[in-house]
Amino acid sequence: MAKSWSTEPSEALRVRAGFDLASADLAATPGWEHGEKSAEKRLAADGVHLGEEQERLFAQGRSGGTRSVLLVLQGMDTAGKGGIVRHVLGLVDPQGVQLRSFGVPTEKERAQHYLQRIREALPAPGHIGVFDRSHYEDVLVVRVNQLVPREVWEPRYDEINAFEQEVVDSGTVIVKVALLVSVAEQKARLRERLERPDKYWKFNPGDIDERAKWPLYQEAYQAVLDRTSTDHAPWYAVPADNKWYARLAVGRLLRGALEGLDPEWPPADFDVAAETARLDAQPF
Ligand code: ADP
Repeated sequence: MAKSWSTEPSEALRVRAGFDLASADLAATPGWEHGEKSAEKRLAADGVHLGEEQERLFAQGRSGGTRSVLLVLQGMDTAGKGGIVRHVLGLVDPQGVQLRSFGVPTEKERAQHYLQRIREALPAPGHIGVFDRSHYEDVLVVRVNQLVPREVWEPRYDEINAFEQEVVDSGTVIVKVALLVSVAEQKARLRERLERPDKYWKFNPGDIDERAKWPLYQEAYQAVLDRTSTDHAPWYAVPADNKWYARLAVGRLLRGALEGLDPEWPPADFDVAAETARLDAQPF
């Protein structure tokens, strides 16, 4: 039997009023007291459940169901977003996953409302959508670098809350994960990318420029957590200095979201007995 959480991450990591990013211990493993080896077993076990629930959700989507799940992943460079996709979403059938990464907007995207490309990427019924970065970049990188003036980004928090309410009302459960890596751990991870030829491809000189603005990013993340952790779409602050913990926690959050939906196998829309008889009647 895989070991259990002492406190579910949906409880332990939920961002509530008063959450203070600056004093969060990012090497901690809230709710999990069994170390790394046991975490691997727990994640594998959660993955089995996740896979089962996802198959039912997918089946429902194929049969007129409207429900879906959206996992929003935000974090500084090296926080481990890619690892979450590989190690957690890798546990489920890829045909049910819609992964979308959001980079610097293209010229066409810049000409439209910032939420437009997000709307177009929302998961189809029956799917788990994953956003690797998201509309939150429009109040993070955009705010830090003043890509638009304050009067433009300031109203976005409320606008994002209203947008997410709309998404939830249409049948999507939103799970927002802030992967929180410490400034020291980020340095170590960037250094590793410079030391290992198999990691060069992950390195972008611009990451060091963004890192120089760490305090401004902290402020911007704090504002996001203060202003957009709503009842309909709460944030989960996931300490990410231990990659194994972040993966374990996100796997559990996702499992919880699917179990909350509790999808049922869709009933047959054909006469089971009649179809069985037709099959049996065939001579081969
Ligand atoms: P990653 O760094 O996640 O591996 P990329 O190298 O494609 O992926 O980087 C994506 C970059 O796009 C990040 O620096 C991010 O801040 C930037 N970006 C994403 N959304 C926006 C946006 N709305 N406006 C400006 N920059 C954005």
